[in-house]
Amino acid sequence: FDLGHAPTLAAIEAARAPWRDHQWQAGPLLAGTATPDAPEDVTNPSDLTPVGQLTPSSAADIETALASAQPWNASAADRAAALNKAADLYEANYGELFALLAREAGKSIPDAVAELREAVDFLRYYAARIPDAAPAGIFTCISPWNFPLAIFSGQVSAALAAGNAVLAKPAEQTPLIAQRAVELLHEAGVPRSALQLVPGPGSRVGAALTSDPRVGGVAFTGSTATALRIRRAMAANLKPGAPLIAETGGLNAMIVDSTALPEQAVQSILESAFQSAGQRCSALRCLYVQEDIADDFLKMLKGAMDTLTLGDPWHLSTDSGPVIDATARAGILAHIDAARAEGRVIKEMQTPQGGTFVAPTLIEVPGIAALEQEIFGPVLHVARFKSRDLDRVIAEINGTGYGLTFGLHTRIDDRVQHVCDRIHAGNIYVNRNQIGAIVGSQPFGGEGLSGTGPKAGGPFYLSRFCAPDRQNSAE
Ligand code: NAD
Repeated sequence: FDLGHAPTLAAIEAARAPWRDHQWQAGPLLAGTATPDAPEDVTNPSDLTPVGQLTPSSAADIETALASAQPWNASAADRAAALNKAADLYEANYGELFALLAREAGKSIPDAVAELREAVDFLRYYAARIPDAAPAGIFTCISPWNFPLAIFSGQVSAALAAGNAVLAKPAEQTPLIAQRAVELLHEAGVPRSALQLVPGPGSRVGAALTSDPRVGGVAFTGSTATALRIRRAMAANLKPGAPLIAETGGLNAMIVDSTALPEQAVQSILESAFQSAGQRCSALRCLYVQEDIADDFLKMLKGAMDTLTLGDPWHLSTDSGPVIDATARAGILAHIDAARAEGRVIKEMQTPQGGTFVAPTLIEVPGIAALEQEIFGPVLHVARFKSRDLDRVIAEINGTGYGLTFGLHTRIDDRVQHVCDRIHAGNIYVNRNQIGAIVGSQPFGGEGLSGTGPKAGGPFYLSRFCAPDRQNSAE
């Protein structure tokens, strides 16, 4: 899936078409026998139709998974071969995976192409770096719905590369694509005892899989609040030193000064704040625009927002799809309503009907400190600053305690150095959008409340999946 060999749009449409009305079935994929239970519908956020059904894991299934988990003791070469084979199978099945990404997760074709490429890159990258160290044992991998293929596959393939017995718990909203990923990994040669899928609610299944003393480590990507809950559960129940690799939320800022190229900055903002309906951990939440250009710049930004096409991501023309479910929409709308009541909403758009849509919205704020939490949707907060206050703005951004992404648009070289030296963020982007990472060359991860590190897709990540006393020899 490198750019030179990506399929054409027509080929993608043709490959996806047979899956337009398909209903997928998912449930626990265990090394032992799963107990039958009542299936629940999984819903397409664009039109609220069912995409398939999930049978959640029962307490007996969780016990079966824990009892039958076996570290993957195949040779390093065999493990690498299976992970590479899985990457081939992901690519070969792209039509079905793109259909799942659109219908289960609300992803447009550009988003789906980027996500599959990232998933495949993770598989091949970790396959090329099988650690020469002992596995941690049973590794629980807990993933979010917003990158249901890439993050899921990245965690699982890292834990497998290190030889662990993996228990994968996908997000409630996206179990179907996780099921297909695990089926393809099994087909590629990963034994069932080394990789089991244990889907179900985080508060029950996730909690059980992070508080059982048989678990040797946890990889988690999701909200900061859940990460703190998991850390407490692990401290109380797991062996001392059991690793928690947590990648969590952010309150990401961008600074646009009066020397920035306006067209470039506006395009970067559209992508950073509204692509994937703002449901990326890296997404821009608070834009600081220099006072001197603010009126003209915001006029231009609002005009550019009017060119966005909102709707069902199955359609090729769609730029921004729905938010993941009704609960997410209600939380975002409550935030917008509160701002509207204070007269701070400065741009609203028409919302498509039929699914859980939220239209891109601009809200004026005095600064990032006014945001109490990450609003995980297409809402951009805008603040103005005077040039002499730049250091105060930097302190304010650092003061959130998060540190995931940061963007800067300026043409002053010294300012790039000055700001980047002071901002606490895992990933800093200059004169471009602030979303995206490249496995291997641009690893991704946060500081402070945004994550524990090491960065996924970077040279130190795999070592954390190994037994604590052997980690130093992992890379
Ligand atoms: P979430 O924390 O609600 O859920 C994430 C996962 O944790 C789900 O699988 C859920 O079932 C599980 N879970 C919930 N409660 C649990 C518990 N008590 N014990 C164990 N597991 C539990 O997050 P979400 O809404 O799915 O995802 C959005 C969040 O993820 C945002 O905050 C976003 O910034 C963050 N995120 C971060 C990154 C990153 O790389 N830093 C990437 C993607 C998403």
